[in-house]
Amino acid sequence: MKVVVIGAGIIGLLTALRLKQQGVDVTVLEKGKVAQESSWAGAGILCPIHPWLYPDSFTDLVNASLDLYPELQTELESEIGHDIQRIKSGLLIPCFADDKVKHQEAAQVWSDKFGWDMQRLTAAQAVEKEPTLSADVEEALLWSNVHQVRNPELLSAVLLYLYKLGVDVVEQSEVIRLIADGQGHVCGVKAKQDKTYDADAVLLAAGSWSANLAEQSGFKLPVQPVKGQIVLLKTKPNTLKHIVKHDDAYFVPRKDGRILIGATMENVGFERSNTVEALSELLAATQRLIPGLKDAEVEQQWMGFRPGSPDGLPFLGEVPSKKGLWVATGHYRNGVALAPVTAKVMADWICGVQPSLNMDAFASDRPLHESTSVGYPKAQS
Ligand SMILES: Cc1cc2nc3c(=O)[nH]c(=O)nc-3n(C[C@H](O)[C@H](O)[C@H](O)COP(=O)(O)OP(=O)(O)OC[C@H]3O[C@@H](n4cnc5c(N)ncnc54)[C@H](O)[C@@H]3O)c2cc1C
Repeated sequence: MKVVVIGAGIIGLLTALRLKQQGVDVTVLEKGKVAQESSWAGAGILCPIHPWLYPDSFTDLVNASLDLYPELQTELESEIGHDIQRIKSGLLIPCFADDKVKHQEAAQVWSDKFGWDMQRLTAAQAVEKEPTLSADVEEALLWSNVHQVRNPELLSAVLLYLYKLGVDVVEQSEVIRLIADGQGHVCGVKAKQDKTYDADAVLLAAGSWSANLAEQSGFKLPVQPVKGQIVLLKTKPNTLKHIVKHDDAYFVPRKDGRILIGATMENVGFERSNTVEALSELLAATQRLIPGLKDAEVEQQWMGFRPGSPDGLPFLGEVPSKKGLWVATGHYRNGVALAPVTAKVMADWICGVQPSLNMDAFASDRPLHESTSVGYPKAQS
């Protein structure tokens, strides 16, 4: 069986790996350089932001994915000798008197229902765990088992494994259209420089750019870029021990002492700039929530385009009106957390094995209810 994967982000690359391991002849086509877009830019938190705001089917998918991470980490370490820096840093949400949304009750109900161990800390306990936190904290929610991964390391490891297995990952090879046979079944793609690739199945994993190819092929896939800017601080290791999250701002401490502050949520199309406004917003959130970081050095700022969907859920499966065309996109804020299960489900499914999870909630033709809390934000003027 021959499969062409469009897009060399974490979703396309890891699915290509799982396909290859099933004996599929797989080629990955990438319009630019591999692994440089959203998957590189993301923060690598292996837990959704406020998962209680999503439907249960989403948590089932997340749990299945996180269960696969230890195995993936071991596999990449033993096959490639690469440390993806998946570490258990825990996740702490501080609560303040003036919080617009009080998450405590919903978080507790969700954690109990899905078996996520959550502790409620007093203000004193919270500050003892994280001395740099604001003294205004009233209480905090702590999930000690939450992990993080360092995205560039994960991508490098998967890529090296693909090369080791002899998978073709072709850079500067933008797919410009899908090719269908006389019955309308997708049977290949046309890439730039007039190159044609035949395939028994095509997987569209083009992240934020997926909608265009879908539209050209006569179906709608409402994936939109949601720009996220991140600021990187340089501190001593262990200055911050847990991932700290409050509303949309989060702080992710890396092993080497660096701390990622993320991230803006901007509906501005494919506009690639690192702005003063975002820098000020993220630093203001730092001063407010973790004033103990005031002396940290600002080292870098970057951005990426999250592949946003209207309801916050990915699109996974075969396109009903286009036999031979599969989609795995629209992972929005959770593509790194969801990559292992996406890759496994999609590779099995393409090879003819039905997923054991119910995938209806992620069908590309599902009825879409725009959700203001977890779907993509409204366009900015
Ligand atoms: C600031 C930020 C923070 C984030 N934090 C987290 C987090 O903490 N945890 C988490 O789980 N997720 C997080 N995410 C989301 C996560 O990064 C994405 O959901 C995930 O990376 C999507 O992966 P992808 O492979 O679908 O997309 P991408 O990584 O964008 O890859 C798509 C690839 O397709 C290529 N492509 C597009 N069109 C074509 C074409 N026509 N032909 C060939 N190639 C094409 C692109 O060039 C790109 O390389 C974050 C994202 C951002 C931006």
